[in-house]
Amino acid sequence: MEPNSKASDLEFRTTLDMGPSTMAVHGGEPRPRADHSLTLPILQSSTFTFENTADLRAFMEARMWGLAGTRTEYGRYGNPTVTAVEEHVAAVEGGEAAVLFSSGMAAVTTTILSLLAPGRRLVITDDIYRRTRQFCLGFLQRLGIGCSVVAAGDLEALEAAITPATGLIVSESPTNPYLRVLDLEGLVDIASRYKVKTLIDSTFATPVNMQPLAFGIDLVLHSGTKYLGGHNDLLAGALIGSASLTALVRQNLWVLGAVIDPHSAYLLQRGMKTLPLRVRQQNASAQAIAEFLETNPRVRRVWYPGLPSHPDHAVARRLMKGFGGVISLEIDGDLGATSAFIDAVSIPLIASSFGGVETLIEQPALMSYYELSSEERLAIGIKDNLVRLSVGVEDTQDLIADLERALSTL
Ligand SMILES: *Cc1c(COP(=O)(O)O)cnc(C)c1O
Repeated sequence: MEPNSKASDLEFRTTLDMGPSTMAVHGGEPRPRADHSLTLPILQSSTFTFENTADLRAFMEARMWGLAGTRTEYGRYGNPTVTAVEEHVAAVEGGEAAVLFSSGMAAVTTTILSLLAPGRRLVITDDIYRRTRQFCLGFLQRLGIGCSVVAAGDLEALEAAITPATGLIVSESPTNPYLRVLDLEGLVDIASRYKVKTLIDSTFATPVNMQPLAFGIDLVLHSGTKYLGGHNDLLAGALIGSASLTALVRQNLWVLGAVIDPHSAYLLQRGMKTLPLRVRQQNASAQAIAEFLETNPRVRRVWYPGLPSHPDHAVARRLMKGFGGVISLEIDGDLGATSAFIDAVSIPLIASSFGGVETLIEQPALMSYYELSSEERLAIGIKDNLVRLSVGVEDTQDLIADLERALSTL
C-alpha cells in the first residue's frame, strides 16, 4: 500500500460493536466501491453472459464445488445488486445471511414451505398477519401440514400444542393490531426443549427496536414494504438467519420464483440507510401521541406497548429498545363515529400499510376485514371502533393538534 493512501478505504469493516445507524449506513457494504460509485449500482439484467464455452464450463465446475461466489448465470438465481442488499440486511439485523423476496408474503410462504414437509405440523399465534394465518390454515392444511393456533402470549398453550410432528413455531412480535409483545426468551426455551425451529415476523419491531436472533430465535422475517423500505414505494420481503437455513430457503426460492427485482432491492437499501433515524423519531412521536390519546375522553382504549396500561408493557420494556410507530385505539363510539373521526383528521392519509414516512390511518373493520360481518370480525378481535394509526416522521405537535381537533368534532 502507498504510505499516504487512505487505509480505511480498503480496511474499513463494520464490527458488531458499532451502533445501529453506522450499521444501517455501512453494514455489509464493499470497500472500495464497485466502479467508484458511492451508491449501489443497479444491475438491471435478467441474465448474465459468458465469454466462451471454457468460461461457462469453469463457472459450472466452480458452482458444483460451491466456489462460484456470487456470480450466477440467470437472474432468478441471483443478481449482484440483490446480493449486496442481502448482505446489508443481514448486517443490520445481526444475522449470518439474508434472502430477499418480492414481498413479505413471498418470504412467509417460501420459508414455511421450505421448513415443513407433508405430515409435519406448525404452531402459530392468533394475532398473526391475516394472510399468514390464511396460508397456514388453508394452503398448508391442503398439503397435509397441520396447524395449531394458540393465543399470543400464552406460553403454556404454546407448549401444549407441540406434538412430535411439530417442526416450526411461527409468531410475530409485536403483533397486529393489538401490538402484543411475545416473551421471546420463554418461546426459545420451549422450542429448544422440543427441538422445534422458530420463525419470528419482526416487521413491527424493526432491527432498531428488537433483534430476535439475539434471543436465540432461528429465523427473522420482515415485510420490507413497511419500515425497512420506509417510503411506501416498494414491496419486498426478507429472511435473516444462519447460512445453512437461509441457503435451504434460497434453493426453494429458485424453484418457487418470488425473487425481488434489482431496482426494488436498491430502493430497499436506500430506505434502510435512514432506518434508525426514522424509527427513533417514530418511537418518540408514537409514545407522545399514545400518551395524549389515553387522556382524551373520546378515546375508550389505547393499545401501545410503551404505555403502562398495555398488557405486555413489562415484556416490551425488557426486550425492546423502542415500541414502534403503530398505535391502535378504540374510539368511544360505533362504526360510524369511528369513520367520522378518521374523515375528520387531515394530516394522516387513509391507507393500509405502516412504517413509512407518512402518517397513515385506517379502520381495520373497513380495510382488511371489510368482507366479514360485524360478528365474524368480533370473533377474531376486530372491533368496529378500532383505529390503527401508523405514525410517520411529521412533527409530533402537528399530529397531536390534528388528532385533538378531529376528536373534538365527535
Ligand atoms: C405487511 C405484512 C406482511 C406481508 O408483507 P407484504 O410485503 O405486504 O407481502 C407480513 N407480515 C406482517 C407483520 C406485515 O405487516
